[in-house]
Amino acid sequence: MSPVLQTHGLVRRFGGFVATDHVDLSVAPGARHALIGPNGAGKTTLINLLTGYLEPSAGRVELMGRDVTRMPQHERVQQGLVRTFQINQLFMDMTVLESVALAVSERRGLGTRWWQPLAAQGEVIDEAAAILERLKLLPDAHETTRNLAYGRQRLIEIALALALQPKVLLLDEPAAGVPTGESQELFETIAQLPRDVTILLIEHDMNLVFRFAERISVLVSGALLLEDTPEVIAHHPRVKEVYLGE
Ligand code: ADP
Repeated sequence: MSPVLQTHGLVRRFGGFVATDHVDLSVAPGARHALIGPNGAGKTTLINLLTGYLEPSAGRVELMGRDVTRMPQHERVQQGLVRTFQINQLFMDMTVLESVALAVSERRGLGTRWWQPLAAQGEVIDEAAAILERLKLLPDAHETTRNLAYGRQRLIEIALALALQPKVLLLDEPAAGVPTGESQELFETIAQLPRDVTILLIEHDMNLVFRFAERISVLVSGALLLEDTPEVIAHHPRVKEVYLGE
């Protein structure tokens, strides 16, 4: 199957420094794909190039076979390439359901007028509730975001992203700052998302990566060192050497 997300010879320089070095990344439809690499390897830069937050110095980004290299961020989102919202972008004083309903209504082009036409309101709420159910957030639907545990708040970031109906979901350290017990649960929930959403994950916690991902790309000094299954990656001498410091 042709890749849902692909880069060709992607390069990003900051002055004379090469942060992304001719990266050919290929993510299969429905994949649970992780991007790993030591600090400073260029993971964030690569994600920023994918979303359009940064422009590449050279190379191309393709989404479902379409060249999106010059496409602005919001259009890429409309095309299905969605990065999770960051926790500081959440509406802390809204309930969980209200937040997600607002995102759904924005996507539907209803803006903040979503409460006006009753029929539309029902559909928006139903869609938002279905997203909460997928993420096991339904019991918290009427809680104010501020009152939730941090791990639950991070799930709302994912809920807001799902409200935009992503084809490819970019998860940038979804468990960062989440206590270990909660992060396992968070990942179990993410792992249960339907396969019509392809996931590209950046995550530092190797236990989580190896359990979640089916394919792993290893980035070192801006370049892709290799891409393979977790089993191969875990035992690869170069990976141990450069990544795990062994
Ligand atoms: P990672 O996410 O893997 O830790 P980054 O993509 O954040 O790596 O950074 C890769 C390299 O690019 C680092 O050496 C970093 O200092 C450099 N870098 C990132 N963004 C900029 C920038 N805006 N200007 C200059 N250097 C940058």
